[in-house]
Amino acid sequence: MTFLHRPKSLKELLKTRHDLPDAMLLAGGAGIMKILHKLEEPPHDVIDLGGIPDLTGIQVGRFGTWLGAMTTLHELTDDVLVRKHHPCLSEACSHGPPQVRARVSIGGIASGRRFEVLPALMVLGARIEYRGQETPQRRDRVQDCLRKDAAKGEVVVAVHLPPHQDGDQTVFRRIQGGSGDVVIAGRLRVADGEVKEAGLVVGTPTQPGLHIAAVEEALIGRPVSARPISLMEQSFVDLDPEGSVSSYARAASSRVLRSWLEHLS
Ligand SMILES: Cc1cc2nc3c(=O)[nH]c(=O)nc-3n(C[C@H](O)[C@H](O)[C@H](O)COP(=O)(O)OP(=O)(O)OC[C@H]3O[C@@H](n4cnc5c(N)ncnc54)[C@H](O)[C@@H]3O)c2cc1C
Repeated sequence: MTFLHRPKSLKELLKTRHDLPDAMLLAGGAGIMKILHKLEEPPHDVIDLGGIPDLTGIQVGRFGTWLGAMTTLHELTDDVLVRKHHPCLSEACSHGPPQVRARVSIGGIASGRRFEVLPALMVLGARIEYRGQETPQRRDRVQDCLRKDAAKGEVVVAVHLPPHQDGDQTVFRRIQGGSGDVVIAGRLRVADGEVKEAGLVVGTPTQPGLHIAAVEEALIGRPVSARPISLMEQSFVDLDPEGSVSSYARAASSRVLRSWLEHLS
């Protein structure tokens, strides 16, 4: 038999999660079927995150943006302020069938490490806020979440984004190819005619967040130019030595970033 738990507040959720560390969390439900198929027997306990006001809402302010973990992809594409301040994220969330986007939550995306949206979160410098009853509140960079699992008893409560600043330029593309989709996200902060900050990330189903650091470093401190894109092929060899990213995906991401940088320069 499976028991369904429906906490009504964050405090109640953290207690339930602490008491039942092996319980399955139910957010939007889009990834649950895949998880259930892998189980040998039904979960004993399921915790529904759907009735907790502390996990919902979008707040865009001077000091950054707060996205409650239960915010759906649909809400992120629909919100006027998210579209204005973080167009790259809004674009990343706009792909896929409406019925899926109306369910999938940003907390589920962060936990499921999905390549469709993570590159946009990474270039925007997003941090994932985890809470647990016995563990201190922490905010990890998205790239750190890719490397380590949440501690037992923790939940994702929110995603934080730094504020958009004048001079920020972003790009997001999702390209469908025969050997799988590839997403490309980029952000440049340009001031006084030179690049001050750069973020370039490529995501594929096998590699959800490849950070193209060599090209970023070559861009910083100079006027915008597409010349550093010549370093991309070598970056892929270094970052993905097993060659799990297809040559199509590598070529497509170089092409997208080159034309974006040429356009900006
Ligand atoms: C456009 C698009 C289309 C997609 N289509 C599909 C599809 O058709 N089928 C599919 O299986 N996936 C699909 N996905 C992937 C889906 O986004 C992920 O499976 C995602 O993890 C599901 O999010 P959810 O809110 O539905 O989470 P759920 O399915 O409810 O939960 C999945 C698991 O995520 C974890 N989780 C969720 N929320 C939290 C939280 N707040 N804190 C800690 N852990 C949490 C839990 O371990 C939970 O068991 C799609 C993604 C995108 C962007």
